[in-house]
Amino acid sequence: MRSSNRAATQRQLGNAKRVVVKVGSAVVAGKGRLRPKVVSILARDISAVQKQGFEVVLVVSGAVAAGFRLLGMPRSPTAVVERQAAASIGQHRLMATFARVFGRHRVHVAQLLMSAEDIDNRRRFLSARHTLQMLLARGVVPIINENDALSDDEAKVGDNDHLAAMVTSVVSADLLIILSRVRGLYHEEDGAVIPRVEVGSRVEHHISSAVSESGVGGMAAKVSAARLASHWNVPTIIADGTEPTTLRRILAGEPIGTMFVPREKKLTARKKWIAVRAKSRGVIRVDNGARIALSRKGASLLPSGILDVEGRFAIGSRVDVQDESGEVFAVGLVSYAADDIRRLRGKRIAEIEGVLGYVYVKEIVHRNDMVLLI
Ligand code: GLU
Repeated sequence: MRSSNRAATQRQLGNAKRVVVKVGSAVVAGKGRLRPKVVSILARDISAVQKQGFEVVLVVSGAVAAGFRLLGMPRSPTAVVERQAAASIGQHRLMATFARVFGRHRVHVAQLLMSAEDIDNRRRFLSARHTLQMLLARGVVPIINENDALSDDEAKVGDNDHLAAMVTSVVSADLLIILSRVRGLYHEEDGAVIPRVEVGSRVEHHISSAVSESGVGGMAAKVSAARLASHWNVPTIIADGTEPTTLRRILAGEPIGTMFVPREKKLTARKKWIAVRAKSRGVIRVDNGARIALSRKGASLLPSGILDVEGRFAIGSRVDVQDESGEVFAVGLVSYAADDIRRLRGKRIAEIEGVLGYVYVKEIVHRNDMVLLI
């Protein structure tokens, strides 16, 4: 260990004990094959940090990446049913590899395949939480992936970066580490990794849209997952998972990769619940005036600022709130169904009754039912 210059650059991780580690497809697999060596190094790292008192929950991608070649496909498929079939071959091979390499360290692994409904539904959420807590208490390493073989696009979280961020809430983790093939966010000019970013600061210009060979999410998905984890006050570190001992060194406080630090503000339990729901059922597009009122002035969303409504959804559904440039800057629960909101868009409060024949509330999304994502 290079301890000489470490003290000066030591990163503060607080009293992090329970850690969710997301490992991307591009780390554990390549060209349609698993990389047992990489998995083996990861297992060694995880059993080492377990001995130091850390609890690790893994979110591992790679089911599709490890399965498509065996289905006779030359490259990672895009059709839903082909991905489902590839995942059903790849997932058990992925687990067999993990079980084997962890076995060398006498560590058991457990598999949990989740879908968006397991997070949206309170009962299933709690059931997942209890299972995971029991496993961690027994020193087992839970390995989570999306239930790719059965979930269609509608039922999916969609990418494992977001799934991992949601899992931090399920297990009340202290830290999220996203291991991929990127070194973190870096300056375009000199390639230097930015060690620390406050969630909410503008980082878009550091994000290229490049998507890795086999994974789903690019850098934008990772930053958005970091933002989601920050709602539970969980910091996120994005680092290169192909380097051996990365995990160990990160948990020893070495400033590897980019750490996204949550802003001080904590969400109420209700708002956390809104943020954790896996899927938005529609989109409400608002004008610039509404964007400013919502994001800077603590206002509720009123009919007058609404430009467009996409999707069919009922009262109480979660929707994305998008600005004129297309950026989703908030999510919230609606007080009216999609068709009613369509009829109300651009109207003044006094006109609600004339349009609908009744007034329920004047807010389309009440402030208390909204979470800003910026
Ligand atoms: N769950 C998918 C898989 O295991 C990957 C999703 C992702 O790469 O984010 O193949």
